[in-house]
Amino acid sequence: MARHASADHTAWDALPGPVLLLDAQGSALHVNPAFAAFARRDAAHLLGRAWQELLDADSRRGLLAQLAQPADFATALFVSGSAAGEGAAWVEWAAHWQAEAGRWLCLLHDASAAKRSEAEAREQARLFRLLADNVPVLIAYYRASDFQCQFANKAYARTFGTDERAVVGKTFAEVIGNDAAAQIEPRVQQMLHLQQPAAYERELAQPDGSTRFIDVNLLPHVGEGGDTVGCFVLISDITRHRLAERAVRESEERLAKFLHASAEGIVFHKDGVITDANPPLCALIGYTLEELRGRPALDFVAPDQVPRVTAVMQAGQEISYETAVVDKAGRRIAVEFIVRTMLRNGERLRMTIVRDIRDRQAAQARIHHLAHHDALTGLPNRMSFMEQLQQHMVAAEAEGTRLALLFIDLDHFKRVNDSLGHLVGDTLLRTVAARILASLRATDVVARFGGDEFMVLLHGGPSREQQRDDVDEVARKLLAAIEVPVNAEGRPISVTPSIGVAFFPGDAGTPDELIKNADSAMYLAKSKGRANHQFFDRGIADSAYAALVLEGQLAHALERGEFELYFQPQLRLRDGVLVSCEALLRWNHPERGLLLPDQFIPVAERQRLMLAIGQWALTEAARCALRWDAQGLAVAPVAVNLSTVQFQSVGFVEAVAQVLADDGDAARAARLIELELTERMLMDDIGEVKHRLLRLKAMGLGISVDDFGTGYSSLGHLKELPIDKIKIDRSFVHDLPDNRDSAAITRAIVQLGLSLGMTVTAEGVETEAQRAFLLRQGCDQVQGLLIGPPMPLAAFEDWARQRRAAERGAATSSP
Ligand code: C2E
Ligand code: CA
Ligand code: CA
Repeated sequence: MARHASADHTAWDALPGPVLLLDAQGSALHVNPAFAAFARRDAAHLLGRAWQELLDADSRRGLLAQLAQPADFATALFVSGSAAGEGAAWVEWAAHWQAEAGRWLCLLHDASAAKRSEAEAREQARLFRLLADNVPVLIAYYRASDFQCQFANKAYARTFGTDERAVVGKTFAEVIGNDAAAQIEPRVQQMLHLQQPAAYERELAQPDGSTRFIDVNLLPHVGEGGDTVGCFVLISDITRHRLAERAVRESEERLAKFLHASAEGIVFHKDGVITDANPPLCALIGYTLEELRGRPALDFVAPDQVPRVTAVMQAGQEISYETAVVDKAGRRIAVEFIVRTMLRNGERLRMTIVRDIRDRQAAQARIHHLAHHDALTGLPNRMSFMEQLQQHMVAAEAEGTRLALLFIDLDHFKRVNDSLGHLVGDTLLRTVAARILASLRATDVVARFGGDEFMVLLHGGPSREQQRDDVDEVARKLLAAIEVPVNAEGRPISVTPSIGVAFFPGDAGTPDELIKNADSAMYLAKSKGRANHQFFDRGIADSAYAALVLEGQLAHALERGEFELYFQPQLRLRDGVLVSCEALLRWNHPERGLLLPDQFIPVAERQRLMLAIGQWALTEAARCALRWDAQGLAVAPVAVNLSTVQFQSVGFVEAVAQVLADDGDAARAARLIELELTERMLMDDIGEVKHRLLRLKAMGLGISVDDFGTGYSSLGHLKELPIDKIKIDRSFVHDLPDNRDSAAITRAIVQLGLSLGMTVTAEGVETEAQRAFLLRQGCDQVQGLLIGPPMPLAAFEDWARQRRAAERGAATSSP
């Protein structure tokens, strides 16, 4: 058999490829040298079943199963080669059944190399796909000849509604649609023929209604022959970019609209230089946009505000704050800045909303003014004054300077208000306020403290003495200014101030104490007859407490009969005859002795006790006058002083009538009494005053004007009144005859009285020189210490009798 076989196998052994002869059971009958080389073994070691060791179990089982069928077959097998794995290979196995020989002729072809390169190509393709499908670009390749798609990545295919496999073979137009293809046609042609890349942008409507923006690049694929064989398509999705751009554009448009629609001024500046502004801003500051552009924003800020605005700019703060700008005309405009930093066209800009707050500020100022000022006079009010006083005291203490507080209270203001109405009262207060202001320096503080009270705070001199002198001067100025009659609805009205002064330091340590002490000094001024000023005096302040005690005692003084009338004689100047007297009130105080009217009349007036006391004085005076008349002493009329409280009181005329009637013969009593009214009492309500005086005159009473010359009464209107006598105030008489002013005034009053047919009496005559001067002027009567002091009833009666006797003696002795 071996011989037969070897003879038979020579042909196979010459073949370059591996050949294997198997029997029907798969035992190797022969292997050619190529097979032995392939298997890297000796041919002898491959015969029989030994060759099967080249196969793994699965391959072997499969192959043997096929070999069991006597039919040709071909298969591919993995052959592991040597035991060491050498010569492992993919083998294409073609088996031919030689029926006549009853054996298998197996021809093997080593396919390893092909198999390897195939796997490599597959791997390459897989990687390419991976890459193509994962780059953020749409990629496709079209064949130039028929515009069929040869390749597309997933993103490309999906974008055009298909997938990367289905798209292959479709034409350009089929993929992107006929309309789009037609549109792009020129670019495609250009790319194909000029062999130049073409790029364009287009919008893609999406199934969900949105729009995608794509940036398309067509790149020609030039073949080796130089003609265009294909076209690479690269597409970037620029939707996000375009939407962002659009958003910027839209916000830009919105901003522009806002800029022009806003009623408030808006200005943009970059690094402090104005780049844009809206019409309201231009209108506000009076410049055109052209004038503003390119100029530093700070040029339009009020100079005192520049540091603040600069600081905000430099810090890049986004805040709102109040400041001021200056318009073209140089006017300062209070504004609010609302500052924001923003990006515009890629630049960092500062946007400032400029809000005109003049109205708001005016309103605020008004509210502040209302809270701090008195609505009637426009002066600072009590609250404001207390604040200022506090500040000034602190400052004075720190600087070692002095302050003087003047507490001003208008005398009898309530009466004006009550009798003439609030409108007149208001006019008066406004006028007084204006006069106080006009009398002071701008640095002095003036306030309306309440009702008819005003406060003046003066910065004082270096010493208390100097300060006193200064205040004396200011107070005199104020007195003179305030009491000038005010024309209220055609009526001249005059009020006087009573002024109390307290100093800081010295009189008080706190604002409240300073005010309290100035107030008590003011009461002192009231008690000294009003229309004057007084300095705070601790001793007197303590006695102010006594005044309170006095008030309590005054009520009982009448019942206890503690009042008494003193009488002071009045002589006819030309012949020295005793013609009349003035009744002057005294209070015999149980503890304090004899009190003068100044010490208790202000207290009584405040309590309206003055009505009863005045009634008593009138009754008493009438009683005396009637008795003297009956006794033939003939001192008449007896002058009785009236208090304002009395004269103003309702039913005053009736009360006087009642007093006179009490003594039986009212008409006779009336003729013996003269009522003394001060000039000021006559000035209030001329109509009413005239009416009252006429009624009193009608009863037979005489009317005398007391303290004449101190009240600025309009001489014209005195003419209208039924006045019998004027009494020259003793302050003028006191300075006679040397003081030229007093002399002139006295002369004028005398002449006026004479021309009006009135009796003129001079009071307070103390010296012979005064008497002589008055005589020369033609004055009718004199009263004063030179003639005789006020005397108790009995003493006066004695004095009067002696006087009458002397007169008679003089008369009889004269020729
Ligand atoms: P008056 O009406 O001006 O009275 C004159 C005052 O001058 C009196 O003061 C009198 O004592 C004072 N006097 C008299 N001669 C001289 C003199 O030569 N030199 C000086 N310096 N003074 C002289 P008096 O009595 O203290 O009265 C003060 C004021 O009190 C009066 O001023 C008067 O306004 C008021 N008064 C007096 N009695 C009454 C009264 O019964 N009723 C009312 N309502 N007031 C009265
Ligand atoms: Ca008098
Ligand atoms: Ca008088």
